[in-house]
Amino acid sequence: MKTATRLAHAGRTPAAHHGMVNTPVYHASTVLFESLADFDASERDPFTGVHYGRLGTPTQFSFEAAVADIEGAHGCVSTCSGLAAIAIAILSVARAGAHILVADNVYGPTRKFCDGLLARYGVTAEYFDPLIAADELARYITPETCAVFVEAPGSLTFEIADVPGLAATAHAHGLTVIADNTWGTPLYFDSLAHGVDLSVHAATKYIVGHSDAMLGTISAVDETRYQGIRRTAIALGYCAGPDDVYLGARGLRTLGQRLPVHEANALALANWLAEQPGVARVIHPARADHPQHERWLRDFSGACGLFAVELAPIDRTRLAQLIDGLDFYGLGASWGGYESLVLPVDPSHSRSAKTWQTDGPLLRIHAGLEHIDDLVDDMAAGLARAGL
Ligand SMILES: *Cc1c(COP(=O)(O)O)cnc(C)c1O
Repeated sequence: MKTATRLAHAGRTPAAHHGMVNTPVYHASTVLFESLADFDASERDPFTGVHYGRLGTPTQFSFEAAVADIEGAHGCVSTCSGLAAIAIAILSVARAGAHILVADNVYGPTRKFCDGLLARYGVTAEYFDPLIAADELARYITPETCAVFVEAPGSLTFEIADVPGLAATAHAHGLTVIADNTWGTPLYFDSLAHGVDLSVHAATKYIVGHSDAMLGTISAVDETRYQGIRRTAIALGYCAGPDDVYLGARGLRTLGQRLPVHEANALALANWLAEQPGVARVIHPARADHPQHERWLRDFSGACGLFAVELAPIDRTRLAQLIDGLDFYGLGASWGGYESLVLPVDPSHSRSAKTWQTDGPLLRIHAGLEHIDDLVDDMAAGLARAGL
């Protein structure tokens, strides 16, 4: 079965729901049982049985089955946000006294989780340059190391780690490899086939795709790790809301149609920006001038709509002149919805393994599904307003 077909059919069981094409939204806390025998049977099936709202509904299990199918995973757990999915993945392998290796370019709240809550419970996170050679990772591994966490490319600076290489080193030492694969999406980076054991998505982004729900997924490569993430999610009481998980399942059906438009718009915009005198640098993995472009070609089958530009040095007032008058680019966090966004970002304060420095402001751009001509014209007017 090809991916497009999988996206249309994975996880759906119309016959079990009066023929409804989509698995309906089940709002539930209490689940009633017909008999004590039924109740006892449900207790024997703690992972997939429907016995209490928090432990999963048919809406949730259907979405999880679809994501697991598309990612080629043994199983998937969905939860209330991407950050919750990251926490579940890490907590499923960590224990007091453990050490985890984390790429220096990870999503900011991942770093805060590691340095804050995890540290309080006696787990040490050590950061490594995401661009180290795969065998260099061995230098960081101690007898207490249990996991390596990567994000390729990072969502502000877009360095692409050698995921298969790092995974090989990690596996030679018996470690679990966790990847935040939000940029790669389930379609453009087949993370489990590249050595990842737990593939995390902020489904809030492209899977939901319409900027209207918070959702996270973790897909596991094998039964042991699947049990680990399911047990951890249950122990924490994390669960996705029924409407949100429905929106995730619904978004998934059109992911294969939306992503190529985001990809084409982002690349066209990046190529146009690279020609503008007020732009110092465009950072887009699909452009030949990206430092890890060859690695992107090797490992990825596409690029999403998220990239960055470094502008020529301008002050905050001129940056405001650029941003405040934009008609089609919203100013806000998150990405992956149908609409375009800009966000000024400063990664220099969230690095410890290697410094990140730019002369001009770094602007992260999400190319939405608008017409490319309007996106270019709007941005051209913005650059002109800022005198760039
Ligand atoms: C947004 C994001 C997250 C967190 O997802 P939420 O659903 O907002 O919690 C994690 N990783 C990356 C790369 C993200 O962009």
